[in-house]
Amino acid sequence: MDDCQHCGACCAAYRVDFSVQELESAGGQVPDGLTVAVSHSICRMRGTDHLPVRCAALTGTVGGRVACGIYEWRPAPCHELQIGSPACE
Ligand code: SF4
Ligand code: SF4
Repeated sequence: MDDCQHCGACCAAYRVDFSVQELESAGGQVPDGLTVAVSHSICRMRGTDHLPVRCAALTGTVGGRVACGIYEWRPAPCHELQIGSPACE
């Protein structure tokens, strides 16, 4: 999304939790090193649970030029957040 490459607000606003099944170590695609464990079944993108929120995979300057360093391997919540959706607004 072109607009997202000049935004990144959602990557610096939300806690990003997802199933450990998505981790590379469990056969998924999300690099383990960019995540923290929440429970035996849930993990979280590193950096999304402290203030200021900023996902460890985000590169660039929020509101300027940004990119997801793991775009092709990002977890489900990042796939699900659609530009123009209430969560984006
Ligand atoms: S989905 Fe919305 S909040 Fe997230 S980067 Fe794109 S425009 Fe910004
Ligand atoms: S994994 Fe990528 S898309 Fe998801 S919150 Fe982090 S930087 Fe944003």
